[in-house]
Amino acid sequence: MPGRINPHWVLARTPPEGWPSDADFAWREAPAPSPQPGQMLTRTVYLSLDPYQWGRRRRGVEQPGEVCHGRAVSQVVESRLEGFAEGDFVFNTNGWQTYGLTGEGISAFGYMFPRKLDPALAPISSAVGVMGMLGLTAYSGLYVQCAPRAGETVVISAASGGVGQVAGQLARLRGCRVVGIAGREEKCAYVRDELGFDECVSHLAPDFQERLYAACPDGIDVYFENVGGAVFEAVLGRLTPNARITLCGLASQYGAMGEDIMQTWRETGAPVFRRQNVQVHPLFVGDYVASHQDQFLSQMSGWLKAGQIRYREDIHKGLETAPRAFQSMLSGGTFGKTLVQVSEDASASR
Ligand code: NDP
Repeated sequence: MPGRINPHWVLARTPPEGWPSDADFAWREAPAPSPQPGQMLTRTVYLSLDPYQWGRRRRGVEQPGEVCHGRAVSQVVESRLEGFAEGDFVFNTNGWQTYGLTGEGISAFGYMFPRKLDPALAPISSAVGVMGMLGLTAYSGLYVQCAPRAGETVVISAASGGVGQVAGQLARLRGCRVVGIAGREEKCAYVRDELGFDECVSHLAPDFQERLYAACPDGIDVYFENVGGAVFEAVLGRLTPNARITLCGLASQYGAMGEDIMQTWRETGAPVFRRQNVQVHPLFVGDYVASHQDQFLSQMSGWLKAGQIRYREDIHKGLETAPRAFQSMLSGGTFGKTLVQVSEDASASR
């Protein structure tokens, strides 16, 4: 359709040291592109906001003037890509924009091939959360890498966030003692009362370390690392011999400048890792898509339908909210998996 306008956010500058601010993003409007053979035009319905996006911008993977990267749930508007038709819902990498091209030659966003979604299986928004990359991250880190056994103590940081809420419930399904770490008390209460963790400790409490150790009287057998920093240092003092750690992410460190945060994390942990024979498993979810995604999606849809896994989303309305919602997510202001609803979700009325 001629005259379709594509509002979008671009990276406004090379990010300076620290955390994002409004000055890092600029609003633009341009005509929506037309799909060429092998491509389709999709309209973003839900945009996923993830901590890694800031690390990516800080490392220069994204250049000033480029549309900000982001995974999305989108609806096909016009398709010249085999297997996809107008109206289909897809998981793709549309970025922080209303309309995007997916398919052949779309190198900026197209490295993850689109996946068609079945709205009957789960709400489509969950394709960027529990039924998507975040769920698979929790599943592969916890079940594949750390393989917790019934009765073991599993600690999950950022426990109310997109990955953490799933990881903790997976540990609970294995019969583990599950201890979450989160920020505000309402997040801790949700994790305990709604998600069924045994305990949840606030890292904001002045006596956080004492509380954590009291919640883990037999030590920590498995640690699912999402944040790093002071939380990690506290966990280190309570690891059992032969503990396993999934090094999933270091969300508290993504504003750090000019240092290899993974290296810093390893060096901090090295004396304990050596002394106690701790196994550390760095995680990149992309390594598990081919091997585990199908099995994961089938199991997860069953757990969701049976009410064995629950999840919370924090949905911000309108693409214009993206920079503020992103900043809020990084500093613990949002609650649950953070999304922006960019346009109408037509699957909701089906
Ligand atoms: P979240 O929804 O959990 O958001 C990040 C959370 O981190 C914040 O909400 C905040 O929660 C917590 N946080 C921020 N700063 C601090 C701090 N200083 N101390 C303690 N907690 C802090 O994000 P996701 O679920 O999307 O991602 C979780 C982690 O998983 C991230 O590190 C991300 O990079 C990683 N990840 C890794 C993947 C992989 O392949 N390895 C794939 C996907 C995600 P609170 O208010 O509770 O403090």
